[in-house]
Amino acid sequence: MSIVKLDLPANSAVVDRPKKVVLTLIVPVYNEQAAIGPFLDEMARISAQMAPAVQTDILFVNDGSRDGTEFTIRSYMQANPRIQLVNLSRNFGKEAALCAGLDHADGDAVIPIDVDLQDEPSIIPEMVAKWRNGAEVVNARRTDRSSDSWAKRTTATAFYRVFNYLSDYPMPSDVGDFRLLDRQVVDVLRTLGERTRLNKTLFNWVGFKAEEVTFERKVRSEGQSKMNFWRLWNMALDGIIGSTTKPLRMWTYIGTILGLMSLLYATYVFFSTLMFGVDVPGYASLILLTLTFGGLNLFAIGILGEYIGRILTEVRERPMYVIHSIHGTSE
Ligand code: UDP
Ligand code: MG
Repeated sequence: MSIVKLDLPANSAVVDRPKKVVLTLIVPVYNEQAAIGPFLDEMARISAQMAPAVQTDILFVNDGSRDGTEFTIRSYMQANPRIQLVNLSRNFGKEAALCAGLDHADGDAVIPIDVDLQDEPSIIPEMVAKWRNGAEVVNARRTDRSSDSWAKRTTATAFYRVFNYLSDYPMPSDVGDFRLLDRQVVDVLRTLGERTRLNKTLFNWVGFKAEEVTFERKVRSEGQSKMNFWRLWNMALDGIIGSTTKPLRMWTYIGTILGLMSLLYATYVFFSTLMFGVDVPGYASLILLTLTFGGLNLFAIGILGEYIGRILTEVRERPMYVIHSIHGTSE
């Protein structure tokens, strides 16, 4: 057997990125009027740093805000032609807003980023540099999450553990939606039709050549977090159920094992009754078995229900978001 040696240069990335590129930042916003000014100031600084090779477009997705978010964005748009705005017809949640952004972003690369400056904008040039060197996805990993509450950090760690245990496509922990995606990756993401989704699981599922940069997560610049425990819980469930089948399949094995154990116990009861007669006391074991099996049954049905509910959502084929209006498109 002969070994063919490929003569690749040290940096084997074979890429042909154009000299001048367009980067689109996708910014979902929900009641963020106070955070928009500081965000745009910061972005003006970063995009000046990257110009003229990189043109930075900012695509706001207004996720049904009830405050002056739309007004604030539109007043900034008068002076800055690089800002675009997609208004959704109501609040659809961050995941749907992100999808609307992905569907409308036309840059050579896109970066979903939060408006509250928790996703450190100053690492964007580093992400773009890695992309220009050949990476198709550049993940931004949070190295220090001490700005998040203890409860949020603990539940986030638990989520990544459970997700990576159950899913066939493990996710890097501490990487959120903030990452650079090449046009080719965005085009693939647009073809995925599922409505029950946690975008970062899909960003990971599509594959492609990924690299990483790190940053420290800061505290929110203005206003308050829009995510409460219940929203995060449901997002976690969407993520897990959208990417797994193990929780459905495990009941086959649990059922088999419990069935076999019951058979053994039944055999024992049958023969001991034959040999020693009827054993009247049995309240404790009966109530224990009834409660245990009742609980397990309900738990299994609950898990089935979670999956079936999401199948129904998919079958209905309602769109993930509804657009009210689009302003400042480049076309
Ligand atoms: N967001 C949104 N729709 C929602 C909730 C949040 O578009 O229903 C946006 C929000 O305006 C922000 C980003 O998603 O730009 C992240 O939200 P937040 O900072 O409240 O989440 P956290 O950082 O606390 O997880
Ligand atoms: Mg935030």
